[in-house]
Amino acid sequence: MDDLPLRDELRGKSPYGAPHPDVPVQLNVNESPYPLPEPLVDRIAQRVREAARGLNRYPDRDAVELRTALAAYLTRTGHHPLTAANVWAANGSNEVLQQLLQAFGGPGRTAIGFEPSYSMHSLIARGTSTGWISGPRHEDFTIDLDAAVDAIAAHRPHVVFVTTPNNPTGSAVDAETVVALYEAAQRARPSLFVVDEAYTEFSHRPSLLPLLEGRPNLVVSRTMSKAFGAAGLRLGYLAADPAVVDAVQLVRLPYHLSAVTQATALAALEHTDTLLGYVEQLKTERDRLVEELRALGFEVTDSDANFVQFGLFEDPQAAWQHILDRGVIVRNNGVPGRLRVTAGTPAENDAFLDAVRDLKKEQGA
Ligand SMILES: *Cc1c(COP(=O)(O)O)cnc(C)c1O
Repeated sequence: MDDLPLRDELRGKSPYGAPHPDVPVQLNVNESPYPLPEPLVDRIAQRVREAARGLNRYPDRDAVELRTALAAYLTRTGHHPLTAANVWAANGSNEVLQQLLQAFGGPGRTAIGFEPSYSMHSLIARGTSTGWISGPRHEDFTIDLDAAVDAIAAHRPHVVFVTTPNNPTGSAVDAETVVALYEAAQRARPSLFVVDEAYTEFSHRPSLLPLLEGRPNLVVSRTMSKAFGAAGLRLGYLAADPAVVDAVQLVRLPYHLSAVTQATALAALEHTDTLLGYVEQLKTERDRLVEELRALGFEVTDSDANFVQFGLFEDPQAAWQHILDRGVIVRNNGVPGRLRVTAGTPAENDAFLDAVRDLKKEQGA
């Protein structure tokens, strides 16, 4: 690759990617452990079959039926009325975020995130030639509001990312903090403020969708990868003022969302009650992981997501390997002293807890 006439900012860089060895218990990338329920599989097959006959034509470029169904889901669960004009969908929320940075970031512009947070925010910034600013957090990983407001005032970013619940740390941000950051950002310059709610269905806090009222530069980003248990589908979406949706259409590729994807997502949206039932099971298992890890003497960050950050390890990579050697893969996100485990099935979580119990014994010895 070094011999290619590659863009300078990409030279010597590595692509995003968690290690993915084939082990029995996969608790590393925040997927749902549950296969899609059989009635939904049948409905997907039926809807895709119907779509297949029309694959000689381009798909609905504006995905109106899907955006209408997503708006209905958000209205029902987010306690804020939305229509298709407020909603945009793409291949995973990563593509939604990329489209936002293509439209609102880019060369000569900057974006800020409060780290540690979702590493794709900075990577998408790099890919779109948007300057990246790493904003501060407290030692306990909550947002340091005063320092964050200072950083926004000093750097005057064009795009602000707040992830709630945050990945990889797990805790949610309260609405007052988000409003204070939004106002600080708008004081600095008119900027786009993106709330990444990939894990909101797992949180004890309500979605921040009602904050969209009267805040034309606010965007809430969501995904079917986590709570819908459909990471393989690649469907993310946003809710915002209709003008933001119009702006994103300036940069989206025509027909970016295939007819097969649209049909599959529509089928999944017919089964939200079943899928959200799995979310309740996973929340119970997440709370059990927090409790049992604390009982074992680990330091555990409060979690509103489908994963738990735990430590402290002198050598997190060695601890990661120890757990892997027992057939369980978790994630080392590079947060000093800590690892992250996704909530799996009760049996998978038992296997994980056995592996860390072992580790604790060795460390204690
Ligand atoms: C997993 C995740 C996403 C989802 O990405 P998709 O492209 O929709 O699969 C977005 N934001 C955060 C913080 C995540 O952890």
